[in-house]
Amino acid sequence: MARKSKEEILIAERHFDSIFNYDAGTIRSKFLTELRDNQRIMGIRCPDCNRVYVPARSTCHKCFASLTDFVPVANTGTLTTYSIVNSPQPYSPAEPPFIYGIIQLDGADTGLVHLISGVDPQKVTIGMRVRAVFNEKRIGSIFDIKHFKPIGGER
Ligand SMILES: [Zn+2]
Repeated sequence: MARKSKEEILIAERHFDSIFNYDAGTIRSKFLTELRDNQRIMGIRCPDCNRVYVPARSTCHKCFASLTDFVPVANTGTLTTYSIVNSPQPYSPAEPPFIYGIIQLDGADTGLVHLISGVDPQKVTIGMRVRAVFNEKRIGSIFDIKHFKPIGGER
């Protein structure tokens, strides 16, 4: 039986350049409101496995339980990994070079992606202790946390 000739599959390219608004939902809205009004980072605890998610979400990734139990977590945490951005991208939150990090806040079991500042990109290290720095003017956005900066002398 003869094989059908191999069909060529092309890659289509599209560029999207749009800003859109969406309903953040009750869970995410509470998380963002706490950042805005109280400079407090809230996690949400799974009633079945006790895992604490930051940012707060509605369903446990591990056991699929519905999550409603908000718990405050610390504004401090540990940098678990990072990436240094050297080239400008549309809608980047900072001018390159800048550092995106994943921070496991004290009291949380998951990582929060955010900017790391106040450290030379060549000197950033995994395991570095960091603290959230809040903006003076807050609007109910993840960027109400301006960035995370290293905690001097603490490990
Ligand atoms: Zn769970």
